[in-house]
Amino acid sequence: LLQSSHPTFGSASVQAWNINDKSLLVEAILKMVNRLRRNPYGKILKTGSSARGLIGDSYNDERQQSIIWSTNLYFGFNRDPHVIAQASKALQNYGTGMGISAAATGMTDQHVAFEKEFAKLVGKPSACLFPTGYTANLGAISGILGPNDIVVIDQLCHASIVDGARLSGATIRTFKHNDKNDLATVLAAEQSPYRTTLVVLESVYSMGEGTAPVADIVKTAKQYGALVLVDEAHSFGFYGERGAGVCVEQGVNEQVDFIMTTLSKALGSIGGVIAASEQHVNLLKSASRAYIFQASISPADIAAALASLRILQSDDAMRAQLWDRTRYMRRRFKEAGFDLGTGDGPIVTPHFGDKDKLYAIVQSLYQRGVQTLAVTYPIVEKGRGRLRFICSASHTYEDIDHTVNALIEAEKEVNAHFAEHPHYSNT
Ligand code: PMP
Repeated sequence: LLQSSHPTFGSASVQAWNINDKSLLVEAILKMVNRLRRNPYGKILKTGSSARGLIGDSYNDERQQSIIWSTNLYFGFNRDPHVIAQASKALQNYGTGMGISAAATGMTDQHVAFEKEFAKLVGKPSACLFPTGYTANLGAISGILGPNDIVVIDQLCHASIVDGARLSGATIRTFKHNDKNDLATVLAAEQSPYRTTLVVLESVYSMGEGTAPVADIVKTAKQYGALVLVDEAHSFGFYGERGAGVCVEQGVNEQVDFIMTTLSKALGSIGGVIAASEQHVNLLKSASRAYIFQASISPADIAAALASLRILQSDDAMRAQLWDRTRYMRRRFKEAGFDLGTGDGPIVTPHFGDKDKLYAIVQSLYQRGVQTLAVTYPIVEKGRGRLRFICSASHTYEDIDHTVNALIEAEKEVNAHFAEHPHYSNT
């Protein structure tokens, strides 16, 4: 845990999981490799990313037909024939790579169209593309702020936000997860007319929680004159009218200064984007080192993202399909007695306290044709380990039924094994 004495976070009044402690992370992963005799993060998707496919194991080259729940492809656009056709056309017309940053001529008409159409959808005048979602957060936060400024982030924010905050050199403060009162306390303590303050949060957090109270947090931030950046990586495309996201859904898109999303999840491509005022986009394009010194998104990738963006805006049926499957999966798991935590979105997370049991279940699921990942401390709180199933519109009800039954069986098998070998648990 990040205690108040943590050197990076100074006198932060709250605790956050220290996902930056490398020794803890390495230890957790090595433990998992030892338990499973293979590295679950070393798996190879032999047939590419999709809802179902052949998964290979980098240790022994085993092949396993699996239902895949571990990618963020909420609509499966990476397999959509129209999207693929548009990407192929761009590949033919523009070649493979841009060879230079967007700031230095690395844009095509496809890049420009994407920025315009994304900005319009989320109700902002302008937008700025980055090569990945990670570098969008990194580049935006470090572009907006300098060492004299303050960044206040929700304690569960993604690594790209933490890293952007660190790179900026600004004073970093955290506020308790989704807690506007704690945010107010932190902001009140840090108020200064000479410093820019940026509050950063996510609209839906990636470990299976519900929607964040974005409107309340924005209101509090604005009472203290702070700028606000909202990361919509896990909401863009399926919350709000035409998939515009939670800021639009909660009616605060105008007050939020920077609306960020990634092109790698709902849009099935790669890239990151920040929508903001003309003035703020100009600031990013002239002051963000990740924008200026990094080659831009390839023509095929941006053409794919643009094609997906256009389908998403017009196709409410796809969104309904994703939500129908999400509700069905949640209902089936709950009926089977699993604790899903507080979430209601497509990231469905049966909770298991015991870490070793969790790794064994992942392995048992894999052998039953179900690919998922375990998330344990230090990524989530101690004792709150969970499986992470990312539901998509391209999963079928049969996939869900098979998976729920497989989890029931896997848990039984693992419980029986642990009962026979009690020394094996809780290490
Ligand atoms: N923000 C959040 C909340 C994320 O979950 C992720 C990806 N896991 C990113 C940013 C980075 O996006 P990308 O992987 O597309 O670079």
